[in-house]
Amino acid sequence: MHLKRIAVLGSTGSIGINTLRVVERFPKEFQVVALSAYTNTRLLEQQIKKFSPLYAGASRQGIEYLHKCRGLGKSKLFCVEEGMAPIVNSPQVDTVVLGIRGAAALKPLLGAVRSGKTVALANKEALVMAGHIIIKEAKRHNATIVPVDSEQSAIFQCLDGKNKSELNKVYLTASGGSLCDVPKSEFGKLSVSRILKHPRWKMGKKITVDSATLMNKGLEIIEAMWLFNLDADAIEVLIHPQAVIHSMVEFRDGSILAQLGITDMRLPIQYALTYPRRFKTNLKDMDFLKLRQLTFKKPDLNKFPALQLCMDVARDKGTTPCVLNAANEEAVEAFLNNKVNFLGIYKIVEKVVSKHRSIQSPTLEDVWAADGWAREQAKGLILN
Ligand code: MG
Repeated sequence: MHLKRIAVLGSTGSIGINTLRVVERFPKEFQVVALSAYTNTRLLEQQIKKFSPLYAGASRQGIEYLHKCRGLGKSKLFCVEEGMAPIVNSPQVDTVVLGIRGAAALKPLLGAVRSGKTVALANKEALVMAGHIIIKEAKRHNATIVPVDSEQSAIFQCLDGKNKSELNKVYLTASGGSLCDVPKSEFGKLSVSRILKHPRWKMGKKITVDSATLMNKGLEIIEAMWLFNLDADAIEVLIHPQAVIHSMVEFRDGSILAQLGITDMRLPIQYALTYPRRFKTNLKDMDFLKLRQLTFKKPDLNKFPALQLCMDVARDKGTTPCVLNAANEEAVEAFLNNKVNFLGIYKIVEKVVSKHRSIQSPTLEDVWAADGWAREQAKGLILN
């Protein structure tokens, strides 16, 4: 067995940090050959010292800082603002872990699939923007995309080795978000710090806000459509507060397969890295007797209209999902900077989506144009 050579893009984010925790447990299986980070250069510096990657990508400012650091060894530094080509095109990389948030992941993802890499994909925005292009290119270049998102990983595992034409539907589970028990009348007053206090998982800020609006679940519907070649109608969202079932698939004979496990991102991350094999983890076991029950309910679409909006947008295979995503990124950023309140996020996204005239079978240029248009529209609404 030769070492799997791993590149971690977004190495200082929650996915990146957990990936490195997994990788360092298996020094005979994995070698970290590249790291990149955009904001947290201090942590990147520590990671470079620990893993001695061949390549390390940072922002322009970050590079300036790293040039002054001692003990970085022979790692070749490159500027992430100029693109991820040094990593995604490198013949010295086998698997690219994509832990970058937002639209910024689209270019490196396309680069990685066009180089025929295996991609452990944690980012969902890129697939929402241009799923049709990414999946087509992955097929053409024989690239493998293994999802890291826990729900997609569950579906991926349930479908592995199965005949997809016999699939009836997918149950996409959701914990319900941090606002499950908060009355909607209070939503307008929710502060940024309140939203960022997610009860169950520590994640990046953007996805934590998306989890609160349930936009995250909506984006996952679109993500699943592309990953598993499904129609929007074949995906049903189920609120499952225990978050033990990470998703389920139903076959046409009515038989249902579910993937269960403790809620720890290292589990789907490790599977994406070891696929199709399974290695031991050092995580705690599931205690069914403590758990006692698994419950389910319908999502409240009046309380969380972003989910309904995504369900509608998911039917459009053109540029509307891209517009939804871009407007949401801008609106979430504005919320995090206290420029709009929590309810404003949905209002902005809905307005921009309703103004958009979708282009069907868009080219990559159409996608970027739609992304840019949506951001301008959203910014206009944020200012007023
Ligand atoms: Mg998820």
